[in-house]
Formats: sequence, C-alpha cells, structure tokens
Amino acid sequence: MIKKIGVLTSGGDAPGMNAAVRAVTRAAIRKGMQVYGIRRGYNGLINGDVFEMNERSVSDIIQRGGTMLYTARCPEFRTEEGVEKARAKCEELGLEGIVVIGGDGSFRGARDLTLHGIPCVAMPGTIDNDIVCSDYTIGFDTAVNICIDLIDKLRDTCNSHNRCSVVQIMGKNAGWVTLEAGIAAGATSIIVPEVEFDFQRDIVDRIARGKRYGKNHFIVLVSEGLFFDVPSNKNYKYCVDNGIANIADFAKRVEKETGVESREAILGHVQRGGAPSAKDRVIATEMGNYCVNLLKNGISNRVVVMKETDIIDLDILEALKMEKPFDFKKYEMANMINI
Ligand code: ADP
Repeated sequence: MIKKIGVLTSGGDAPGMNAAVRAVTRAAIRKGMQVYGIRRGYNGLINGDVFEMNERSVSDIIQRGGTMLYTARCPEFRTEEGVEKARAKCEELGLEGIVVIGGDGSFRGARDLTLHGIPCVAMPGTIDNDIVCSDYTIGFDTAVNICIDLIDKLRDTCNSHNRCSVVQIMGKNAGWVTLEAGIAAGATSIIVPEVEFDFQRDIVDRIARGKRYGKNHFIVLVSEGLFFDVPSNKNYKYCVDNGIANIADFAKRVEKETGVESREAILGHVQRGGAPSAKDRVIATEMGNYCVNLLKNGISNRVVVMKETDIIDLDILEALKMEKPFDFKKYEMANMINI
C-alpha cells in the first residue's frame, strides 16, 4: 500500500491549482498517507525541493489564484538523465506516488516517471482548455470570467467614443477562451486559430451590418494563437501575407478597412490571476480526491479528466493520442447571435 505521496504543479499556472493541491493533501492524509509538496514542478523533484504537508499547510488557499507550490518548466526533465535523477530522488525521499497537476507536457513527464517505476497520476490544470483528452481543464472558467469582466469595461469606453476594441485573448494555440468569452461578452467578431477567417466577411461586413442596426461600438476578439507559427493555426499565412505581425497591426487594419477608430488591447497574464470560480474550485477538489483514490488503490499512469459532466480516468498514453475538435457549431451560433 502506498504510504507517502508527492504533489506538484507544472507548466503554466491556472486558477484552481491551489484547490487541487488542497484536495490532494487533505484526501491523502484522511486516507492515512503522508504528503509532500514539491516546489516548481519537476525541478523540485530533481533537486529534492520538497516539504511535508499537514492539513493546515493547505489552509486559506482554496480562494487564491496561482499555485502555492510554484510552477515551472523543466527542460532537464525531458531528458533520460533528468527523469532518472527524479526517480532516484523519489526513492531517497520514500515517495511512492506523485500527483501531477498541469497541461499535456506535464502529462508526458508523468508518463515518463511512471515508466521509470514511480507511479504517477495527472490532472488537467490550464486556462487554455486545450488538453485533448478532457472536455474541461481547471482554470478555464475563471479565465473566461476575467475576460468578460475586462471586455465589459472596454465596452463602456468604446461606447462613449464610438470605437472598436480589438482585444487579444490568451489561450496558446487554441481558441477556446476566445470563443467562450466572445459568446459571453457579445463580441462582433471572434477570430480563432482553428477557423480560417475572411477579413471582409468576418470583420468588415459584420461591422457594417452592426452600423446599419445603429450600433456605434464594436468588440473584435482575436486569439493570441493567430500570430503563432504552428501548423494548427489556419490563419498564420494570412497574417504574414498581409503584414499583420501582432494585435496592433490587426487593429490598424480594422480601422483602415472599416473607418471605425480602433484600439488594440492585450489582456495578457491578468487572465490567469485572481480568485478561482466556484466551478474551478469544485472540479479541482473532485479531481484531486479522485487522483488520491487511484494511487491509494495502486493504480497509476492514469490521467483524471472530465467527459461531459463525469470525472473519469484514462491511460495517459491513450489520453495523449486523443483528439478534441474545435466546437465549430458553437462558433457558428456565436456568429449568428452576435452583431
Ligand atoms: P504544460 O504542462 O502546461 O503543457 P509544458 O509543455 O511546458 O507545460 O510542460 C511542463 C513540463 O513538463 C516541462 O517543462 C517538462 O519538464 C515536462 N515535459 C513536457 N513535455 C515533456 C515530454 N515530452 N517528455 C517528458 N517531460 C515533458
């Protein structure tokens, strides 16, 4: 029976990671295990930067963004030597199982460590909702709520000045946050990497139509991923061909083509901060508890995910091979409803 486990957060931080760390810690202690916090993701494992936690170690964090364990990227862990160092450290510390909270890069690390003999289970923590094996990732709901709060504020000033706000939304290579925020904030145009857009049809014509309806201010949301040179970005070539390297160039083009004064805004890392929403706290708590139950039952190399409204576990290797198509129906609906 596993008696001593570690917990770490890895990759980009996300609101709700603290709630997950809290749930793992409390559930493990209740089930008779010792729990160690590992600082700065896989770095802490390689360097032995760990500390024992008790019930009170995770007090007063459920409501906080970020992660009390800190997070980091650890290039060394991608090497055989790095994983071997981490395995040796686990043995030295007596850690018999690890709960990893992070994105799919972190899942690959968990798979590698399991293959080296240290049982790991992982759960999805990222605002981007871009983990293919899970319908939901912890932090997404909070990030969308932060976006709409900020977009609502931009709308007030846009309205006063009869302007268009061209807003860059975080989400790495995926447009999930942009789509959800676009629906919830009523954006005139929602531009994501997954859908090839047409400047005339999707921006100029939509703004012209809005004007005909008497609208005097506009919100155009653009995923940061539009400017990334990756194969999944269907709009990268368009941006390069038209001299659009960033959101400022995009906003200039909107102003030139529509005649509406346009200003760019980048929400940036504020999207990742602040108190997690109830949804993120609750799902993080359920998933954290689920991870501990797996380890307790001697099950590892699993990733705990959400399928529709259920929390289930999958083999990590299988999970990493899955696909999550963009929600084109929802995207079309947004374009039909929004003006
Ligand atoms: P995320 O977990 O948010 O996707 P990263 O892709 O940066 O973030 O991964 C976080 C960490 O997980 C990396 O710094 C590295 O230590 C580990 N990792 C990422 N990819 C791999 C891989 N292919 N094999 C082993 N470990 C990996």
